[in-house]
Amino acid sequence: MARKTSKTKIVPCSVCKGTGEVSRTVRVGRKRRTVGTQTGLCLNCLGSGETTAAD
Ligand SMILES: [Zn+2]
Repeated sequence: MARKTSKTKIVPCSVCKGTGEVSRTVRVGRKRRTVGTQTGLCLNCLGSGETTAAD
C-alpha cells in the first residue's frame, strides 16, 4: 500500500548546505581574538542536513 506524501517536503538545509555541520568562529579572551574556526553542529537542522519546507 502506497503512503501518501505529506505536504511538507525534505530539502537540504540552507544553512549547512546539507552537511549538518557549520564552521563557527572561535574567539578567546577579553579582546575576542579570533583563533580559528571550529566545526559544530548545525543548529538549523540539528545535524541532519535536512530541513522541511512547507509546500
Ligand atoms: Zn543545517
